[in-house]
Amino acid sequence: MSNDEGYAGWSFDTRAVAVGRPTGAGAPLNTPPVFASSFREGGNDYARFGTPTCDAFEAALGALEGGVAVGFATGMAACAAVLEDLPSGARVVAAANIYHGARTLMRDMEERGRLVLDTVDATDLTAARASLAGAAMLWLESPSNPLLQVLDLEALCRLGKEAGVPVVVDSTFATPVLQNPLAHGAAAVVHSATKYIGGHSDLMMGAVVVPDEEAAEPVRRRRTFHGAMPGAMEAFLALRGLRTLPLRIKAAQQNAMVIAGRLAEHPAVTSVFYPGLPGDPGHELASRQMRGFGAMLSFCVESEDRADEVLARTRLIVMATSLGGVESTAERRNRWNEGAPTGLIRLSVGIEAVEDIWRDLGTALGQPRGLGDRSAPE
Ligand SMILES: *Cc1c(COP(=O)(O)O)cnc(C)c1O
Repeated sequence: MSNDEGYAGWSFDTRAVAVGRPTGAGAPLNTPPVFASSFREGGNDYARFGTPTCDAFEAALGALEGGVAVGFATGMAACAAVLEDLPSGARVVAAANIYHGARTLMRDMEERGRLVLDTVDATDLTAARASLAGAAMLWLESPSNPLLQVLDLEALCRLGKEAGVPVVVDSTFATPVLQNPLAHGAAAVVHSATKYIGGHSDLMMGAVVVPDEEAAEPVRRRRTFHGAMPGAMEAFLALRGLRTLPLRIKAAQQNAMVIAGRLAEHPAVTSVFYPGLPGDPGHELASRQMRGFGAMLSFCVESEDRADEVLARTRLIVMATSLGGVESTAERRNRWNEGAPTGLIRLSVGIEAVEDIWRDLGTALGQPRGLGDRSAPE
């Protein structure tokens, strides 16, 4: 249906734009949202097994990650499909800093005897190696939510290989623009396409990307029989978002670098977590491993009340959960009870003019006038 064989010779940015388009005389440039639950015999069958719109999304995402992508209704459905494929009682080792939803799902599965969950500080490679004996899966997230911890994917995948343990990487914060975990030897990459890939805060979708067709087959089976197929409109919007993913990431991370630097100098800010800052513990590793530092950052103010106060004062930056949209959003992350520092604000830096973002944040923080922005009006 689409002409994607030739993509190997194309650069990343070109793939994002060109892969997954219909071909042939008179074909539309974009695969439309095909609103059908059932198809005439001879091609697609029943929409729960796969749809033309999701196929197009998968072709494009697979070309960006260097693997075979399988689309899911949400990021959590993608996480669940990967975990559900484990045999009963399997031991999963998860990095200490992972998305709270994924951790809650793992705990829930553990309580039901479905798996055994161990947690490891994956920045400590000696501890990581020791944790892998007898494990069935190592679950990583880098950079992590919300502390922006960067993990050494190359080294951890090597340890996984030595121990015969498949490594799964939640790469939602990085997107394929900034890193490709499969190239380091990961067995699967998980994405919440709700975030940067969709990019406009108007859809929910997820994906699992694996190295080849053989590995994709059981992932598709989980999707089909758990009924986690995304709708046609979602797949259409996610692919539309993906077309501009490289541009949006570049613009947003440029803004994030400026904002992180100014926050680090602000007297009301006690710490900043952003791998782009030279002093950040993940800086050196991220410089080697990633093609940029991304647009997520977190920072702390002195207390929970102070964090709420700051967030109540912003006007441009929307106080909301989720991330990865064109608009800047922020939230006090500890409200999810995930062990984040109490005064921690997670900021998803958007693609607005950076001085507007800073003026909003600086004013909300009660900035000493003019810090980093001489045009600050009040
Ligand atoms: C949001 C998120 C998920 C879950 O994705 P949904 O689309 O909300 O189901 C998983 N991992 C990370 C890192 C996320 O930020």
